[in-house]
Amino acid sequence: MKTGLYAGFDLGGSRLKYGLIGNRGRPIFKGGEPTPDSAGDLMSLLEDVWKRLQALQPGRIRSAGFGFAGFFSLREQKIIQSPNCPGLDGFDLVPALSSFVDVPFRLDNDANLAAFGEWRRGAGRGAGSLVLLTIGTGVGSGIVLDRGLWHGSCGFAGEIGHITVNPEGSPCKCGAAGCLETEVSATKIVDHYASLTGEPGLSSKDVYKRAREGDPDARESFARCARYLGIGLGIIINFMNPEKILLGGGVMNAEEFLLPPALEEARARASRPAFACCEIEKAALGNDAGFIGAAEWGRAGVSGSRRR
Ligand SMILES: [Zn+2]
Repeated sequence: MKTGLYAGFDLGGSRLKYGLIGNRGRPIFKGGEPTPDSAGDLMSLLEDVWKRLQALQPGRIRSAGFGFAGFFSLREQKIIQSPNCPGLDGFDLVPALSSFVDVPFRLDNDANLAAFGEWRRGAGRGAGSLVLLTIGTGVGSGIVLDRGLWHGSCGFAGEIGHITVNPEGSPCKCGAAGCLETEVSATKIVDHYASLTGEPGLSSKDVYKRAREGDPDARESFARCARYLGIGLGIIINFMNPEKILLGGGVMNAEEFLLPPALEEARARASRPAFACCEIEKAALGNDAGFIGAAEWGRAGVSGSRRR
């Protein structure tokens, strides 16, 4: 008998990523599509992709996992509010998915499942506790605590992107201001560079290129972002004393300008013993973390294991 395969779907604000993993968690197939705006169009796309995956590996897919962007209610199994995919707000996901997904499946928040993926198959393997921060246009995060995904009482734990790191900071989509995700993001780096130079319309890659060429304003833009990242890291370390903090997302490509000053800031703010026992390193699975984690999450639901 052929070994089983596990399907994972990662519904981000701009892109749906999906794939199949084997018993050892390695992707054997992956793909991606732009995320449609409405929940109806999204379900049609998921059904289409699901049928393609089943046709590719008939009878071998044992389970599926779906990660959705937004505040996922454990009790209702719905996205209550999705700043990046408003079409999902309150949408009844389980009945819609049950109409075409013909294997057991589980749902969760996309960033939680990325953390679960890094814990099961990436840089967090074997850790008793970890926090994953995915730094891109915003900051996604998930928590593994005592060897299981930590949801909080209703499912909304791990929204570290919305802790306040700068009370005077920019307005956030969540309704607050100065959240980690407004101060530490590709968008903020670009905006800050524009405010220093008066030169709008650049991408974060452009600013990174200039930083590498020695442009002091570009370096200052990264340093400012790094400082707030360090404040966030200090809060996480003091609050939960995690074994690992993993940093992923596109902004981490500029690691050389971000990580050293962020670590310096965190070291200055966190309690010394907690900082000393926390490993802070780059995440390993890149853009695949979400769908691998989703696949592992679905799989853990059918395996009867204690991997929560
Ligand atoms: Zn916020």
